Amino acid sequence: MYIAPKIISGANTATLLKDLKGAVLVVSMEIPWNLFREEHDWQPDHIHMVEDMDLATLERLNKTLPPCDIVVGLGGGSCCDSAKYLAWKRQCRMILVPTIVSVDAPLTNMIAVRVDKTVQYVGDIYPEELIIDHTLIQKAPKELNRAGACDIASIHTALYDWKLAHDATGEAYHPDVAELAAQCLAELDRNAAEVYDVTPKGIDTIVDLFRREVEFCARIGTSRPEEGSEHLVAYNLEHITRRHFLHGDLVGLGVFTMARLQNNSPDWAADLIGRCGLRYTVPDASPQEIRQCLRTLRAFKEHAGLFYSIVDERDMDEAFIEDTLTALGR
Ligand SMILES: [Zn+2]
Repeated sequence: MYIAPKIISGANTATLLKDLKGAVLVVSMEIPWNLFREEHDWQPDHIHMVEDMDLATLERLNKTLPPCDIVVGLGGGSCCDSAKYLAWKRQCRMILVPTIVSVDAPLTNMIAVRVDKTVQYVGDIYPEELIIDHTLIQKAPKELNRAGACDIASIHTALYDWKLAHDATGEAYHPDVAELAAQCLAELDRNAAEVYDVTPKGIDTIVDLFRREVEFCARIGTSRPEEGSEHLVAYNLEHITRRHFLHGDLVGLGVFTMARLQNNSPDWAADLIGRCGLRYTVPDASPQEIRQCLRTLRAFKEHAGLFYSIVDERDMDEAFIEDTLTALGR
């Protein structure tokens, strides 16, 4: 069942950690932990540095790490997800201190783990205590924090696909939730400059929009309001290249290309993701890989058994693909 998080946000709020009572196990990584230590001299009872997100590793850690009363996840998505795994298994108190806002892991109940190099979701634990430390988050490279806007901007193309799927296949559709999602998109639009500059307001906006999104998606039991064909682009590019990218880059590319395919205010969408600072031209992928991703998108979707979207209804011919690459400047 959904549990709303208590969020404490502000400058240097991570100082609250030193007042914790009981045995504290911190799960972090070298970079975020060193950044934290630049501001705070608190030492927990035990600290573990995350190496990978393999399910086998997490199972082993749960057995070998010392017992604790509180698990603190301090870092990016992997640190938060590792802490979620341990707190879920141990049924203990958990505090998350995200040091970047690039993914919604600090707000969701699911834990992304890897089994045979593919992502699987396990667990069920809603984070109840979040410390959003602006000072710490602002130490990270700006593009990592801007990337968080992608899973809000994705509402633009996802809502279109959700309605399309409802009309074509009878898939359940909730107009009231679609309206709440549209309000989140509008809120991102209003605060794009703050998100780009990673100001306290920009950070709080991203966290609050993640919180709202997780709440309404939990209520209807689907991520349809924020996961549409733009995510298919992201999943397929990783599938084709077998490389890991910044999620914001890939979903940004997905919003750019699918808004064009949907004929759904593509210029507005490109302007929004540009103002948020998403690197939607995906500098780490070659033009040939992007072409390949678009050409194989429907086949990928069918093979993987994924949801219905514009990809089922409109062909992407070579002219569309070349026009899109030109518009991307790739
Ligand atoms: Zn996403």
